[in-house]
Amino acid sequence: AEMDIDTIWMDGEFVDWDEAQIHVLTHGLHYGSGVFEGVRCYATEHGPAIFRWEEHLERLYNSAKPYGLDIEYTKEELTEATVELIRRQDLASCYIRPLAFYGYDSLGVSPEGCPTQVAIACWPWGTYLGEQALEEGVDVMVSSWRKHASSQIPTNAKTTGLYVNSLLAGEEARRNGYVEAIVLNKEGNVAEGPGENIFVVRDGEIYTPGLAESILDGITRRTAITLAREQGYTVHDEATISRGELYTADELFFTGSAAEITPIRLVDDVQIGDGTRGPITEDVQSAFFDLVERRVSDHDEWFHYVSE
Ligand code: PMP
Repeated sequence: AEMDIDTIWMDGEFVDWDEAQIHVLTHGLHYGSGVFEGVRCYATEHGPAIFRWEEHLERLYNSAKPYGLDIEYTKEELTEATVELIRRQDLASCYIRPLAFYGYDSLGVSPEGCPTQVAIACWPWGTYLGEQALEEGVDVMVSSWRKHASSQIPTNAKTTGLYVNSLLAGEEARRNGYVEAIVLNKEGNVAEGPGENIFVVRDGEIYTPGLAESILDGITRRTAITLAREQGYTVHDEATISRGELYTADELFFTGSAAEITPIRLVDDVQIGDGTRGPITEDVQSAFFDLVERRVSDHDEWFHYVSE
């Protein structure tokens, strides 16, 4: 790695970045039988602050449930490891990637006998969808790949194997000159992005697909809903959104821990609104950055401060 960081926490120990290795016959590598999180830690005047850490941890343990994956470490142990990684590597801000997966034993599809391995890495990570994305918005394409339904694979679990769908959709979009994809669910309604939830603004109100639409229960999605309501906006958080409604929206935006709040300015060949960041998107986005960078003091319970 070219990054100025050298340590990964793996299976209870801090190891050198280059030593954090696994066997090639690891179950999770063959069958995607892992679960993970993506979390941001922001630089604030009180030092690094992990945003909604407890909820990310909760989702990690919940993701493991349908797979019978037994994470043998407590939330306290994973928190301590993460905080120590950030301190040791002197990171002012970073992205945090906790991962748990079935390790090496036998290679039947049944993971019986496979140990659960757990790792946490942290590294500095800039804007996910490009430098200009937050201000100018991104061009996206409705993917020809549908999202798997929650009846096929639990979509509220953040499972490693699921991300081949995200890869197909995202790469198809990029091959066609777009920055990111929008994925429809099996019914043909709007689900989400490959690594983002999606919001639609129409006639001054905000809509986002409900959890029954085969989406991930995004933590930035929850945040955006709360912040928008606090600003007085009406938010419909169990919406069913047709593909057609994307093109006629006044504004569209993505939410995600990596993508933060990113405006969408074009879908396929249709410009959205004025083709720039819309005013309601800007309101929610600036409330979000004021919050995570702690320029406001509310929702302090959402932050896990790393400084001693
Ligand atoms: N949907 C998918 C498929 C994702 O991978 C992500 C990123 N974790 C999201 C939505 C956004 O979730 P969050 O805000 O919790 O990062």
